[in-house]
Amino acid sequence: MKKIITCLLALCGLHATAADTHETDTIVARNGRPIQFIALMHASLRIIYEGTEIEIDPVRKLGQRTTDYTAMPKADYIFVTHEHGDHFDPEAIRQLSTDKTRLITNHRCGEQLGYGTLMANGEGLRLPGDITVEAVPAYNTTEGHLKFHPKGRDNGYVLTIGGTRIYIAGDTEDIPEMAQLKDIDVAFLPCNQPYTMTPDQLVKAARVVKPKVLFPYHFGQTDVSRLPELLREDGIDVRLRHDYE
Ligand code: ZN
Ligand code: ZN
Repeated sequence: MKKIITCLLALCGLHATAADTHETDTIVARNGRPIQFIALMHASLRIIYEGTEIEIDPVRKLGQRTTDYTAMPKADYIFVTHEHGDHFDPEAIRQLSTDKTRLITNHRCGEQLGYGTLMANGEGLRLPGDITVEAVPAYNTTEGHLKFHPKGRDNGYVLTIGGTRIYIAGDTEDIPEMAQLKDIDVAFLPCNQPYTMTPDQLVKAARVVKPKVLFPYHFGQTDVSRLPELLREDGIDVRLRHDYE
């Protein structure tokens, strides 16, 4: 059914630039309205809900890959998890912004830009348009990797959109705080070494977070092909989208 809706929207031309070049998933929110998830690149995604444009960690260039944000609608909300170049690109933010765009970020990126709504781990926010945000911890736990993402600096986000809870983990390992996340419908979990999780860690994290739909993202050259099979008995719908390489 979801596929049919996606096809119909595509036929009607409602996807505009998105469906032409990027993998798009339409998931029906708890309130019955569709949410579109567009896989742009690695850690960058676009969410569309009721005409509201949300961009997560927009980045224009990663190696040879590029995303043209000038060809996309301006954003209502931009979320930034942390300062690394595969997540934080001030020029992409500029290209997506109008004077009405709201930027929500961790403290370090907000301080570098000199503006934005700065959120620390544990803080919450209610936004216009039926959206709430919680900033959640994202950090490394493996000895030797702690310097990549020290505890308390970076954010993951739980967005509640139309009643549907979406966990965007950012760059993190399978941290104990994941057990406190409740009722997650859709999760984005990162998978690459040495910066985030191994596939085994991702499986453990998924079993703790228990999303209905899981998008492995930020996986780079990591082989994630076995994840759907590994999580099948857990009842998790794992969706591999190659743009998240
Ligand atoms: Zn990072
Ligand atoms: Zn990263």
